[in-house]
Amino acid sequence: MYMTTHIFKVTGMHCASCAAIITKKVSSLPNVASVSVNYGNEKAKVEFDPAQVSIASINEEVEKLGYTFVDESVSNGGGHDHASMMKGSELEDLRDKTNFIFPVALAVFVLMLWDISARTTTIVPNLPIPMTLFNALSMVIATVALFWVGKPYLLGVVRFLRHGIANMDTLIGIGTGTAYIYSITITLLPQFRELLSLPEYTYFDVTIVVIGFITLGKYLEARSKEKTGDAIEKLLSLQAKTALVIREGKEIEVAIAEVIHGDVIIIKPGVRIPVDGVITEGVSFIDESMITGEPIPVEKTAGDTISAGTINTNGYLTMKATKVGSETLLAQIIRMVEDAQGSKAPIEALADKISGIFVPIVLGIAVTTLVLWLTVGSSFLGFSDAVSLGILSFVSVLVIACPCALGLATPTAIIVGVGKGAQNGILIKDAATLEHLHKVDTVIVDKTGTITVGKPTLVDIENVSGMHDNEFIGILASLENKSEHPIAYAVVNFAKDKGLSLDDVSNFEILQGKGLMGVVNDTKYFVGNTKLMRELGVAFSESLIEKYTEEGKTPVIIATKEKVLGFVMVSDEVKSEAKKAVGDLHKLGIKVIMLTGDDERSAKYIAKLVGIDEVIAHVLPKDKLEKIQTLQAEGRVVAMAGDGVNDAPALAQADVGIAMGTGTDVAIESAGITLLHGDISKLVKAIKLSKMTMRGIKQNLFWAFIYNVVGIPLAAGALYPVFGWLLNPIFAGLAMAFSSVSVVMNSLRIKAKKL
Ligand code: ADP
Ligand code: MG
Repeated sequence: MYMTTHIFKVTGMHCASCAAIITKKVSSLPNVASVSVNYGNEKAKVEFDPAQVSIASINEEVEKLGYTFVDESVSNGGGHDHASMMKGSELEDLRDKTNFIFPVALAVFVLMLWDISARTTTIVPNLPIPMTLFNALSMVIATVALFWVGKPYLLGVVRFLRHGIANMDTLIGIGTGTAYIYSITITLLPQFRELLSLPEYTYFDVTIVVIGFITLGKYLEARSKEKTGDAIEKLLSLQAKTALVIREGKEIEVAIAEVIHGDVIIIKPGVRIPVDGVITEGVSFIDESMITGEPIPVEKTAGDTISAGTINTNGYLTMKATKVGSETLLAQIIRMVEDAQGSKAPIEALADKISGIFVPIVLGIAVTTLVLWLTVGSSFLGFSDAVSLGILSFVSVLVIACPCALGLATPTAIIVGVGKGAQNGILIKDAATLEHLHKVDTVIVDKTGTITVGKPTLVDIENVSGMHDNEFIGILASLENKSEHPIAYAVVNFAKDKGLSLDDVSNFEILQGKGLMGVVNDTKYFVGNTKLMRELGVAFSESLIEKYTEEGKTPVIIATKEKVLGFVMVSDEVKSEAKKAVGDLHKLGIKVIMLTGDDERSAKYIAKLVGIDEVIAHVLPKDKLEKIQTLQAEGRVVAMAGDGVNDAPALAQADVGIAMGTGTDVAIESAGITLLHGDISKLVKAIKLSKMTMRGIKQNLFWAFIYNVVGIPLAAGALYPVFGWLLNPIFAGLAMAFSSVSVVMNSLRIKAKKL
């Protein structure tokens, strides 16, 4: 069965249990394989068989529940604008309602406090309004509050009655609706009231104030939630709209979508680079800060790659487009950030489970509370008082128990964390990776390209072949010219600088982790490290090699089957930030191990320079994988940072695989985390970010839970018999609104923290 995955923007979700309802409904449809609905970024990911189910039919089911799916994958990019427009109008609607209801609710709240004080103390005079007028006015306002502002809550009740599905809206709808119906009955049917000898109090104020506070809370929450996701907006704004291309010898400005591979593009100073490509002419400083987080502009010239979204600061350049549209690094980053923000962290599973079963449980508690008041309560207090207190408790329980904050706790923090990472050149694949990273206690680093710059140069020659040095280097460089290893570039560049010509090589073969072999002018040569020479059984001067490796240099030995012809030494500079980064990792209590295929002595020298604890040298790529497995078996949580060239299996085995992106040509989907610009100090930042995000999530979950845990018994009146405490629904509404807003604000705080 062929499956396809669609991302939908979801509108109409007011609470996290909405996400649970949609998930339940859609996953129950035939031929739908998986559904994941995220309340945080209001997106749904649905995997289904397009031959059996249509998007329209999925949407139809969702609409029955009162939500809408807007298909985002159809019109790439366009969907984004559409969805954010819809979101904008939802927000506006909420704002209008808040502007009306909140001042009114506040006034009612003040009058209510006044009334209570007037009745309980002698200092405060009675309200200067006739009670009948006040009641009549309250009734009108409560009607507007419930039927206009509170419409989503009433729809929640309707949905509950029709489909048996309850969410948080349902809870608030039942709560405020009950207070309203009770009050209307008392006001309009005085005979009925007298018949049951009910008190004269009405609870229109409860309806007004609860709806007022909760609506304000939702509005503030929606506004801050938009801010949690603004990293994406910023990335999108990096995309240039047009490009100045040369077509048929003329400069013309075309829309970015019309730029094709191979287009020659003119980049004037101060202009944003429109697509990825290679500079063909000119020199300029390129500001890459928005993509890599690197604050200092980098000088680039012909042959260097530049990527879309970066800014040409001062020079006049021409470039050739190599990657356009969705292929650019920027487009990949945007996709990855969006995906990661919408993904679920393992820690969220618990919150999801709880909000899924919470609503029916709360309804049960509320009904039980009411029944207990009417039976047990009325035997102590008399029926009349028990009814008023019972109604108040019933409403309070429904309002305070809303698990709104619970559903916001994890996704809002993940959205902020992933976005903050992207702005610092730390690309995180998914929420699970971000969560795992905070537990890492061992970091394994590759030497070449991670600790060292990765651009070694040839520094010494020991030629014992009897050939002239030029011939000796010529043969070596011819062979190395076929290799991709950084060592190879050192040798080839040296030969080229000397103007040596290279010979043809046949029967070339890479000897993984050791070197290479090939035939030049009918002679078979082997090039590589001491390990390779020992295996071949050819003799070489160990002491001479040692002398160099103790200085951190790497030997490249060349031999025939019979004897060693000599060697060259290559040396790679240690990255300036490596030492500080290793120190910072130590401060976080993390052990750093360097794994390398390089010579042991040379590797140890480098390790000592930067303060690395342990070196494992002469390892073959497959041994790297085994070493990680051993560490994991010891109970260590391992992150592996490598250039990804021959480390892919090890990166995959590690708990967190970290690709050091060098240059701009990185396959960012291959690792859990990609550090743009190959900067190891970013790994420290990534770990700090993960710790920060996880701490935020845990605080959020605590605050979300504590409201419910403390609030529900208090609201139900469990403490009334002991202390006479009962939570007025109005304060339940206030607490509710406050808990959601505080959770979102707490997540937003992560944004401001220093990495
Ligand atoms: P690493 O990425 O840690 O350098 P590799 O497996 O790529 O590990 O290489 C291991 C070792 O094999 C190198 O340190 C070097 O000694 C030798 N080697 C690999 N490729 C070449 C090459 N093209 N020329 C010479 N030596 C090589
Ligand atoms: Mg390597």
